[in-house]
Amino acid sequence: MTKVVIAGGGVAAAETLLALRAAPRGAELEIALVSPGEQLDYRPISVLEPFGGAPRRRFPLARICAEHDATLVADGLAAVDGARRAIVLRSGGELPYDALVIAVGARREPAIEGALTYLARDDEMQWIVRELEQRDVRTIGFVVPPQSGWSLPLYELALLTAHHAAARGIGNIALTLVTCEPEPLAVVGGDATRAVARLLGRADVRVVTGRRVSGWERRTVALDPPDAAGPLVVDRLVTLPRLVGPAIPGLPCDAQGFIEVDDHMRVPGLEGVYAVGDATTLPIKQGGLAAQQADLAAALIARAAGPDASQWVRLRAILLTGARPLYIQALIEDGRPRASGVFQTPPWEPAQKVEARYLSPYLAGWSD
Ligand SMILES: Cc1cc2nc3c(=O)[nH]c(=O)nc-3n(C[C@H](O)[C@H](O)[C@H](O)COP(=O)(O)OP(=O)(O)OC[C@H]3O[C@@H](n4cnc5c(N)ncnc54)[C@H](O)[C@@H]3O)c2cc1C
Repeated sequence: MTKVVIAGGGVAAAETLLALRAAPRGAELEIALVSPGEQLDYRPISVLEPFGGAPRRRFPLARICAEHDATLVADGLAAVDGARRAIVLRSGGELPYDALVIAVGARREPAIEGALTYLARDDEMQWIVRELEQRDVRTIGFVVPPQSGWSLPLYELALLTAHHAAARGIGNIALTLVTCEPEPLAVVGGDATRAVARLLGRADVRVVTGRRVSGWERRTVALDPPDAAGPLVVDRLVTLPRLVGPAIPGLPCDAQGFIEVDDHMRVPGLEGVYAVGDATTLPIKQGGLAAQQADLAAALIARAAGPDASQWVRLRAILLTGARPLYIQALIEDGRPRASGVFQTPPWEPAQKVEARYLSPYLAGWSD
């Protein structure tokens, strides 16, 4: 039996497991999933939580593994010994593999001192929304820092805040979105970028592009380069974390610790080793793309027909606005948008916010 080890417990790891089992000879594989956490933490709809939406969902990995005939190893990947085709666990043990898929995600670090780093602490954004409701806070800045991987959640937070305030008749507020990108949500480019800019304009969110934030002191945001409109002064500053790679010993990494991969998600120089999702050097850190990478790695391991490994990737995203969501589709080549479109009704059938071929319908059918 071919021994497959999957390291990770997020979207990319779970999609790999489901894609392997769905492959024609998937039942012949012996699969172990190594994760230090017990749950698959489903973050994409977490942005609704501070505004009274349902709490973000977590799915027990034990059940996902049991339903897909995989062994859950409650441990973390510490190192890879490629010569011996084994992984070293944090507990000190070892696990041999014929094929290994690394899906350990990225580490999150605060990007701006003093600012609220979204998702670093569970209820901080909720506090800001409450302060807004009580009129204790009037001005909020939302900052997309470099190396955030996927900036869409910050656009959602800005739009949801504007919608929440308008729906409650909270006037006399000023929301500003500062991004290091040359234009709003530049990762999708074209029509989608223009549509997001229009949405922000209609919601009265001022946008400052092409600026980094180097600090925030006495309510004044230090912009680099400075904004011609003058200094930006805000009561609260919300930002996304800066993503850092996992830097696993035994794997080739770039300077930030992200794992190097070729265009088939293989780790160069290591036979049978693949890396997928946020942990890799690929610049866009998005769940839908992580799932496509997982499908490709799984197809190669199971020698099944998989997605096209061309340089073109189809990115699909849903932007939550408080009113009607916006459905975004873009073609990405070498990490850059080539074409994009926006839709009021989805041109695909979204089972979940993250577009994953096997995981989305599985989670959509989940009952507790
Ligand atoms: C607020 C927010 C909203 C988002 N919205 C969307 C969206 O709408 N659509 C979309 O497609 N994407 C969205 N994303 C991005 C998406 O969540 C990520 O791209 C996706 O989760 C990446 O999956 P992953 O499995 O690579 O990493 P993760 O989901 O980060 O999972 C990594 C897993 O590996 C485990 N792990 C860590 N270290 C080790 C180790 N040493 N050994 C074993 N396991 C380890 C972790 O415990 C975790 O379970 C959003 C992200 C955020 C933060």
